[in-house]
Amino acid sequence: MNQAHLCPNSAFTVGNKILGVKDGDKTVRLGELTVITPEMYEDFAQFKETNSMFRMTGKCQRNNCSNWKNDHCNIPSILEKLGVEAVDEIPDCDIRQGCVWYAQEGESICRYCNQICNQ
Ligand code: SF4
Repeated sequence: MNQAHLCPNSAFTVGNKILGVKDGDKTVRLGELTVITPEMYEDFAQFKETNSMFRMTGKCQRNNCSNWKNDHCNIPSILEKLGVEAVDEIPDCDIRQGCVWYAQEGESICRYCNQICNQ
C-alpha cells in the first residue's frame, strides 16, 4: 500500500485540511480544502469539540493509528456494521486520488463517506 495515502478522517491539527463541516450526523463538503494554520488552531483552541465540528484530512498514520489493522484501515469495514447508510451518489472529492479508503475499497466506500462525521 502507498506510504503517502491520505486519511479522510483525521484530527483537527495544524497542517491537516478541512474537508467539510458537520451538519447533524453528516458531513457537508466545503468548496475547497482549507489548511489548518497555527492561527486557526489557536482560534479554535477554546472549542473542545473541533474533531466533531469539522471533517479533516491528513497523512495516513498507518501503524501509528489504532484503526490500522493488517496493513489496512479498519474504518471502511465497520461503517456498515455501525449502521451508516450508503447514498446513491458519489460525492465530489478533492482527495480521491490519494485517499486510503478509496485505494482499499474503490467507489463503494465513497457512498458512505459524507454520512459520517469525524471521529
Ligand atoms: S469521498 Fe471517497 S475518495 Fe473522497 S474522502 Fe471519501 S472515501 Fe475518500
